Order: sequence, then C-alpha cells, then structure tokens
Amino acid sequence: EEKTMICIGCGVKIQTEDETKVGYAPPSALEKETIICQRCFRLKHYNEVQDVALTDDDFLKILNGIGNAEGLVVKIVDIFDFNGSWLPGLHRFVGKNKVLLVGNKVDLLPKSVKHEKLIHWMKQSSKELGLRPVDIFLVSASKGHGMREVMEAIEQYREGKDVYVVGCTNVGKSTFINRIIKEVTGEGNVITTSYFPGTTLDMIEIPLEDGAAIYDTPGIINHHQMAHYVDKKDLKIITPKKEIKPKVYQLNEKQTLFFGGLARLDYVKGGRRPFVCYMSNELHIHRTKLENADELYKKHLGDLLQPPRSSYSEKLPPLVAHHFTLKEPKTDIVFSGLGWVTCHDQGAQIVAYAPKGVAVMLRRSLI
Ligand code: GDP
Repeated sequence: EEKTMICIGCGVKIQTEDETKVGYAPPSALEKETIICQRCFRLKHYNEVQDVALTDDDFLKILNGIGNAEGLVVKIVDIFDFNGSWLPGLHRFVGKNKVLLVGNKVDLLPKSVKHEKLIHWMKQSSKELGLRPVDIFLVSASKGHGMREVMEAIEQYREGKDVYVVGCTNVGKSTFINRIIKEVTGEGNVITTSYFPGTTLDMIEIPLEDGAAIYDTPGIINHHQMAHYVDKKDLKIITPKKEIKPKVYQLNEKQTLFFGGLARLDYVKGGRRPFVCYMSNELHIHRTKLENADELYKKHLGDLLQPPRSSYSEKLPPLVAHHFTLKEPKTDIVFSGLGWVTCHDQGAQIVAYAPKGVAVMLRRSLI
C-alpha cells in the first residue's frame, strides 16, 4: 500500500531515504498519527533551522519566485569556496531587487589576511560573474563576528521590504539564519514555514517588527563544489575548523605539491622561492619531484594521496591542468573549496590541477 505522506508542518511529501533532501523524516516518524518532516520538527521544537538541499529544478523555481517578489536578496558565499559556492544565474533572476553579498567563515583567516583586500576581490569577482551587490560583508556565522553589522545593513537596505536569504549547501546559511533567529525573535515560537508561490517548496519565515519577514530558502547543491566529490569524513578533513596556519614550502623548479589527491601544483620554471599554503590544517600536503608526479598519482591516489579515501577515489573527476605564468609580486593560486597558495616574486611558471569542474584561478595576494 503505497500512499503519499505529507508533512503536517509544511505540506512537503515525506521521504525516508535521504536525510539531506527536502521532506526527510526518520522511518520511526511514519508510525505516528501525524507526520512531520525533520526540518519542521527541529523548527518547532528547537526554533532551529536545518539545511536541506534542493535539486536544480526546484532552485530555479525559487529564483523565479524571488524575481517576482520585491525585497532584498542576501546571498551567502563561503570565502574558501567563492566560486564553488557562487550561484550562477542569480543575477538574471533577481530583477530589480538589491543583492547584499555576505562572505562567511572569516574566523578561519589568518590574521595576516587583509579583510579589505578580500572584500575588494569579492567585489571584482562578482562583477565579472555578472552581479553587482549593493554591499559586501564578511562574517563568521558560527562565532558571531560581523553579524551585528550585517544585520544593520540588512535593515537599512531592505527599506521595509522582505528579505530572502539564498546560498548553496555548506556555506553556513543555516548557522547564519539561526543567529538571526536568536536576535530577532526573543522567546516566542513565532517562526513558521510558508510556501513559495507556485511551488510545493517551503521556506522558513522569520517575522520582522514592521510586518515584513526574512525568508530562508533551502540551499542548492552546486555540482562544481569540491565538497561533492568527497565523502563526509573527507569533507571534515578539507574543511578548516580553526584559524588556518599557513604552511611554507621552499620549492625549486620541477617540484610538485599534492594536496591530498584533490589538487596538485607543479612549479615548472623559476628560481627557488616560497609557496605558502592556506588550507585546512588537517589536509596532507605531499612534496615530490615533478618527473615522478604522474606516476605517484596513478599509484597512490586514495592512500598516500588522500582525501579522497580509496573507496571514493573512483568518483573523483580527473584532474585538469591550468597553466599560469605569475606576473604580480605576490599571487594567490586559488583552489575553490580547498583554499589557496601564495607564490612570492613574479615570473614563476606553474601548472595548477583541480578536479574537472572545480575552479582554479589567480588573484592578487590578500596579504
Ligand atoms: P548550510 O548547508 O549552508 O546551511 O551550512 P551549515 O550552517 O550547516 O554549515 C556548514 C558547515 O560550515 C558546518 O560544518 C558549520 O559548522 C560550518 N560553518 C558555518 N558557519 C561557519 C563559520 O562562520 N565559520 C566556520 N569556521 N565554519 C562555519
């Protein structure tokens, strides 16, 4: 007897297969008389938002909805995964609505990184990607840094209208929203879910004093994120948890660095110089001779060179080479989803490798 079960909280179709997708409820919940999805359950009992991943199609519907509504769009990106957490196409949908860009996880940056330089780079990159945010803020949703400033800015830019918070999975959107909930709603259990017009999707609605609301939209899965090529345990390894400790490698030409098995940097030509790696403190970096690198990767992907652990290494798309000659006195080679490597002095010839679909790019150093 196959019958469709609906969540009494938000009306979404219940499924028990995938915890990360909309409508999930644990199998035990099905025995109850009234069924409620895990997301609504947490909202109801803990006043807490959980992240739920959306398919592309659903996300397009939401973008459409936002384009037709009037309000401020708050877009959250992960500063360690700027390109991987970018939502391509958002600018085509938002219409006249303003977009406020928020870079999260600023607590991970070493003190030497200049916030203004990072903001400047985010501004330039946004422009190149077709988006002109009204303002850019750096925050740590988990530590609370910068949250008051960003909330004041939201209040200012929304001009009495609604606010839509968007972002792809893993950027820290739930953490961000949960902080706002704490600030905006004192005690009362006033948060509700409501439908997106024209869809069966629900969004979380945090009422504001003037009758407008902040809406949390479910996160989208961005298939180009490094995070989707590794399993949960490996994701823990590549995601920095604490302030990053830069690791310095003095390289001679024709030397290679492997970042687990997920990325690779060949120093092809130029004198001895430092390469400073800004990545998760737990990520294993392996140095070898360039001439041995291909062979080493073939033999040792999944063991010496991990993450990805061996059971996952087949799912990893092949590494793609990006060739660069560095022109600035200090250049960051950015591996989306991992971090970056700062190369000192101009003129170095390098080849940077990342899995197909994952962005590698250069920027002027943030130091
Ligand atoms: P969502 O998928 O966008 O809703 O993201 P979550 O809020 O679930 O957070 C994703 C991961 O990033 C979790 O492991 C969080 O602990 C972590 N995270 C969220 N905000 C921050 C932050 O400000 N700093 C750091 N270091 N980690 C964060």
